[in-house]
Amino acid sequence: MRLRVLGGCGAWPEARQACSGYLVEHDGFRLLVDLGYATVPRLLEHITADQVDAVYISHGHPDHCADLNPLLRARALRDDPPAPLPVYALPGALDAVLALDRPGMLAAAYVLHEITVGSRLDIGPFRAQTRLLPHWVPNAGVRLAAGDGVLAYTGDTGPSPDVVELARDADLLLAEATYVDEVPEDSRRYLSSARQVGRQAADAGVRHLLLTHLWPGTDPAAARAAAGDRYDGEIGVANADLVRDLP
Ligand SMILES: [Zn+2]
Repeated sequence: MRLRVLGGCGAWPEARQACSGYLVEHDGFRLLVDLGYATVPRLLEHITADQVDAVYISHGHPDHCADLNPLLRARALRDDPPAPLPVYALPGALDAVLALDRPGMLAAAYVLHEITVGSRLDIGPFRAQTRLLPHWVPNAGVRLAAGDGVLAYTGDTGPSPDVVELARDADLLLAEATYVDEVPEDSRRYLSSARQVGRQAADAGVRHLLLTHLWPGTDPAAARAAAGDRYDGEIGVANADLVRDLP
C-alpha cells in the first residue's frame, strides 16, 4: 500500500500546499481519501482525473471535500467521460458540495455510497473499517487494510478512545493535529493537539505517526516535538508530495 499526501493544511491551503487529501494505492487501485481545497491540482501532477477509482470522504467540511467538485468536473466535462466514480461518505455529508453545479450536470459522474458506520466496507482491494469520531459534524475515521499494510486516518476529531481502537497496531496513523499543545476551549471536544495524538499513537501501538491538518503557520518541528513527548516511533508531518509505503 502506498500513501501519497496531496495536502495536509488545516482550515485553508497555504502557498504551494493543499488541505487534507491523500492518494492511497494498492495493486493498481487508486483511492482518494478526502479532497480538501487545492488537492486536485496536486493530484493532477501525478495521475489524470479518470485514473481515480474511488473516493472516501471523512466529513462534509470543505477543507476535506471541496475539491470533489473539480475532480467530478474534470471527469464529466471531457469528450469521453469515464465510468461514474464511486464516492463513499456519511449520509448528507456531501449535499453542499454536490449542489455547487446546476442540477444534473455532474449526476452521471459519480455514484454515491452512503457509509453505515461500523459495517463492513470493501473499496476495491481495501478492507475498510469506520468509526464515528467526535467533530462538529459527523466524521467517519477509517482504517484501511490491504496486502500487509494498515493505515488509520482520523479525519477531524477530538480525543476519543475510538481513535485508539481504530488505530490499534496500524503501520501508520494519519492523525489530525490542528494544534501543538492546547486546543482552545471552544474546540476541545472536536479537534486535537499533536500532544494528544502522540499519546493516542502510543496507546494504539502504531508503527509510525503522521501529523496532519496543522493550523496554517504552525511550526512542524514543534508539533513533532509535542507528539514525541509520549510516542517513541517515527513522527512525520503531512505536506504535499510526502510518500510512504506501508508496511
Ligand atoms: Zn472538519
